[in-house]
Amino acid sequence: MNWDALLEPLSRLCIGVPRRAEPLRRHTTLRVGGPAALFYKTRDLEEFARISIWAHQHAVPVFIMGHGSNILVSDCGVPALVLYNACQRMAIGEETYAETGVSFRDLFLKTAQAGLSGLEFAVGIPGTLGGALVSNAGAYRSNIADLLVELDLVSEGVRLRTTPNWMEFSYRDSRLRRPNAPPTSLLAVRMRLKPDRRLEILRRARGFQLQRILKQPPESSAGSFFKNVYDRTLADRLPNLPAPMREVGVVPAGYLIEACGLKGYAIGGACVSRKHANFLINRGWATAHDFDRLARHIERVVYETYGVQLEREVLRVGDWEEGADVP
Ligand SMILES: Cc1cc2nc3c(=O)[nH]c(=O)nc-3n(C[C@H](O)[C@H](O)[C@H](O)COP(=O)(O)OP(=O)(O)OC[C@H]3O[C@@H](n4cnc5c(N)ncnc54)[C@H](O)[C@@H]3O)c2cc1C
Repeated sequence: MNWDALLEPLSRLCIGVPRRAEPLRRHTTLRVGGPAALFYKTRDLEEFARISIWAHQHAVPVFIMGHGSNILVSDCGVPALVLYNACQRMAIGEETYAETGVSFRDLFLKTAQAGLSGLEFAVGIPGTLGGALVSNAGAYRSNIADLLVELDLVSEGVRLRTTPNWMEFSYRDSRLRRPNAPPTSLLAVRMRLKPDRRLEILRRARGFQLQRILKQPPESSAGSFFKNVYDRTLADRLPNLPAPMREVGVVPAGYLIEACGLKGYAIGGACVSRKHANFLINRGWATAHDFDRLARHIERVVYETYGVQLEREVLRVGDWEEGADVP
């Protein structure tokens, strides 16, 4: 693809200025990742939709990014138009409207101030609403899918208003995470929240926040790297698994990684956190390749020890072919 030649027609659609070769490590919480072939930060929903439709019509590959808190971007970068979503309008009410570039934390704070409950779990999740939708983000037995009423999106060049069923949500998953997912820009949602006392809402959120501070490492990470394992037989086999987890048949990925003795294990600058074994952290000099090798090592050791194939929660993005060119 001739990225230089695309700059001019793209610029005609944009309010701001698109850029070539923006380093994506500046925009990811793992602080790794090579350049985007083209990069544009959109703050306007109609512009976001217009560019998404144009890209589809001209067969330009697009990658939408929010706060980059759930992605591992290749050192070779992303051979696509990377649209950084900063569309952040909200209208708060029992039926709340929000554009998907809004930060999950701001959405919680605004709705809590209005005495609306439902997003307490979101308080320590550092991404945007869009990223939360793609992975059905959640914590403390709640997730975003349960709150949704309607979605506004562009899929395969067509703008749609549709129901949450369209996303085929399940645990930390939606159709947009799957291979060959239709190219889709999530634009905005309507969600239903429950009225409650403001102090109660803040008290619950503060409780969740405290648990996070105690459990999670402060270094650069992408949160939980692997999904928890729902397997009752495995849960019954693990004598030290806390009883509430055995009852529901869930084995935290961090439990398995720690039990394999991998806390503190490092490859290059990427390391398994000593505080929480499901957090892979950047010691300051990690490359995306270090993280990928570390993740593969963990997958192999856990498989050999427990016969469990861990599934990644963090998405690999960009070009991972051996010897790929920088776009
Ligand atoms: C310290 C820490 C704690 C975390 N805790 C949790 C937690 O408790 N629970 C949890 O579920 N997650 C957690 N995460 C992971 C992450 O924050 C969430 O998955 C978050 O919702 C991702 O949002 P993002 O904007 O960063 O998405 P990104 O990482 O930018 O993108 C993730 C994926 O979503 C796609 N995407 C993003 N926006 C759009 C859009 N508008 N349209 C189409 N596709 C889009 C991207 O293309 C990409 O495939 C944590 C991460 C960190 C660093």
